[in-house]
Amino acid sequence: MKYARTVLGDIKAEEMGFTYTHEHLHAVPPPCQKDRDLELSSYEKSTAELLNFKEVGGCTLVEASTLDYGRDLNVLRKMSEETGVHVIATSGFNKHIYYPEWVEEKSVEEIADLLSNDVLVGGDGGSSRAGFMKIGTYYNLIHPLEKKTITATAIAQKKCGAPIWGHTEAGTMGMEVLDLLEGNGVDLTTTALGHLDRNADEYYLLKLADRGIYIQFDGPGKVKYYPDSVRVALIKSLIAHGHIDQLLISGDMGRASYLEAYGGGPGFRYIKTKFIPRLLDEGVTQAEIEKIFIKNPQRWLAVFEGPEC
Ligand SMILES: [Zn+2]
Repeated sequence: MKYARTVLGDIKAEEMGFTYTHEHLHAVPPPCQKDRDLELSSYEKSTAELLNFKEVGGCTLVEASTLDYGRDLNVLRKMSEETGVHVIATSGFNKHIYYPEWVEEKSVEEIADLLSNDVLVGGDGGSSRAGFMKIGTYYNLIHPLEKKTITATAIAQKKCGAPIWGHTEAGTMGMEVLDLLEGNGVDLTTTALGHLDRNADEYYLLKLADRGIYIQFDGPGKVKYYPDSVRVALIKSLIAHGHIDQLLISGDMGRASYLEAYGGGPGFRYIKTKFIPRLLDEGVTQAEIEKIFIKNPQRWLAVFEGPEC
């Protein structure tokens, strides 16, 4: 039996149910980020949005706010307790522009210990633990400090066994970050890369999938980039090429203007009530939908031995 690690403790894989694999509930980017639409710091509004997710059938939500992005396991714990939605939190980092100074000051081993401690013991002064580790790369480059935290994450994974999720900037540097992980001994089947639909290049996405990772699309509804028709076509292509077991879809609605409870849209309801019906209408099967939102998240995240481990 394998377990996923939520902020309230470990749960059996089957208990995860319908899962969004990349969202934000409590996010506070550092002051260098002038675009404060990225800040989600209203407990009431974020909790209301989480209830919207529950109302449409949501069971588990993966929260991807990192150590350099205001992660607070105690806030997430309270939201999970209040709503009854399983919340899986992260440890690790976004892109280098957000890093606090200690990333440069600490050794790779010290950072690795900090990450594995978050997964094994708990973080933010409480007993809630992270259920996966996040890495990040920049637009068409991997900064030396990003290389450092990626190396630390690979070392931490040997201690704590947590799965990895990678932020790509506009979907770039996918191959290069996988080379780096692999060079540090990471089994790529434990790894998901996100924001890949921002780089809507079928050939590139198929080549990434060939390396065994989870391919995450997290832009449904973000028409400012391009219409959902492009995402639907890429999803169908990945399925046609035999990659259904590697697909993850979420909204990454990490802006106040994306969330209904903050007065924006399309919100947490969108994928469940609009995007999935469209996928079904365009030929994706119900069994494939269940893999993307239930089975694949389980296989990626439920890797722990149980509550006592
Ligand atoms: Zn995100």
